[in-house]
Amino acid sequence: MEPFELFAIRYAHNGPRTLGQNVVGGDPHETHSALDFYVWVAKRSDRVFLIDTGMADETAKRRGDQFVRAPADAIKLLDIEPEQLEDVILTHIHYDHAGALYRYPKARFYLQDAELSYATGRCMCTRLLRRGYEVEDVVHLVRCVYNDRVAFQDGTMEVTSGLTVHRVGGHTNGQQVVRVWTERGWVVVASDASHLYHNMQNGLIFPSVYNVGDMAEGFRMLYQLSGGSWDHVIPGHDPLVMQLYPAPSKELEGIVVRLDKPPRSNR
Ligand SMILES: [Zn+2]
Repeated sequence: MEPFELFAIRYAHNGPRTLGQNVVGGDPHETHSALDFYVWVAKRSDRVFLIDTGMADETAKRRGDQFVRAPADAIKLLDIEPEQLEDVILTHIHYDHAGALYRYPKARFYLQDAELSYATGRCMCTRLLRRGYEVEDVVHLVRCVYNDRVAFQDGTMEVTSGLTVHRVGGHTNGQQVVRVWTERGWVVVASDASHLYHNMQNGLIFPSVYNVGDMAEGFRMLYQLSGGSWDHVIPGHDPLVMQLYPAPSKELEGIVVRLDKPPRSNR
């Protein structure tokens, strides 16, 4: 099976934050915590998958995140044209994962059944649960359903050989993770199933949560899917990812890292 090359592209930053903002029960006085924002690309000779589309810059401005670069422009650095891209996997449809969908006019969006039901159903009557969503992103996606541009999954599915998706719930009701076959074995893009290494490795719940039990179970699933190696799980928002993995080239340092190469072991 031909392995995928797997990349993380950093496109925004939020910090400093208190530990209490990243961990339920975390010390509100500790302020050395931060979040980075990523999209991921799995690329092989026959298929290219974009995993999440990041946020729109106008959303970043309104919400106070420090926007570094538009993901749709950043993927051009990997020779991918957003207008031509056919496959986009959405791990969930929070504003920082499913924004600016209009930049991918030919794409089919892969999504869990439970995620669109959740984002358009009664839970959105609760401010706490809807605050991670942008209604215009959700409406755009609903329009894509009516144009045959959404591929729904329920649970686990092999999208193609060497790439599977798995619903873990927890963070949102339809959160999914993506397992990708690379030259160093299976690597699991956790997205918001675990924001930081700290969350999944220590069983610490992130405060943006729909179901605490499912999130805790999700940490166990991540470990299992990785074949029992935290070095094969990529948390969704950890600034450490940029430090642990190598850039594909000198020009892309600080922008892109390769997740199909082994991480440095100084964690
Ligand atoms: Zn999220």
